[in-house]
Amino acid sequence: MDTENKPFVVEDNVVVTMNYSLSIDGEVVDSSEGEDNDPIIFLQGTGQIIPGLEKSIYGLKVGDKKSVTVDPKDGYGEVDPESIVEVPKDEFPEDFPLELGVEITVNADDEDEEGEEEMEATIVAVNESTVTLDFNHPLAGKTLNFDVHIIDIREATSEEVEHGHVHGDDSEFYFEDEDFDELDEEDETNHHH
Ligand code: ZN
Repeated sequence: MDTENKPFVVEDNVVVTMNYSLSIDGEVVDSSEGEDNDPIIFLQGTGQIIPGLEKSIYGLKVGDKKSVTVDPKDGYGEVDPESIVEVPKDEFPEDFPLELGVEITVNADDEDEEGEEEMEATIVAVNESTVTLDFNHPLAGKTLNFDVHIIDIREATSEEVEHGHVHGDDSEFYFEDEDFDELDEEDETNHHH
């Protein structure tokens, strides 16, 4: 790759292509490298990657590598004890596999807003008449160790900046894109993904 003429460093509103590997307690739990994976591509400064990671890559150049330690508060948050709840067993379908570590999606009634909200939870205890569900993110409370490698940096288009996400052939975007749907619908005439 010819990187000679890339004057850019990582700054707000540039599109960054980056490889990363994430280790927790010395064990790799996630990586963009490997057969089925591709580097992540994101718009810097828009919160598309973990806040603590985004903060730490400002100023890096193409080819730079960096090891970054991210505290829980700048990662997936601290474990919230109130997000661990006991649910009566009879609220589950009879044939439901109530086993430790099973991840489930719960339709929770949202009292403040209309409709239901889908929430992910992990079964952390199976008791005599109840099941304990943990609604914390599985990586909450964890110190995250990232090794990153900047592969490419390009200027974002004005439309990308306006939308707050990446467009075009390189827009394989690996983070939740739901938040952007509304915005895109308003703008369907001159916008395609
Ligand atoms: Zn868009």
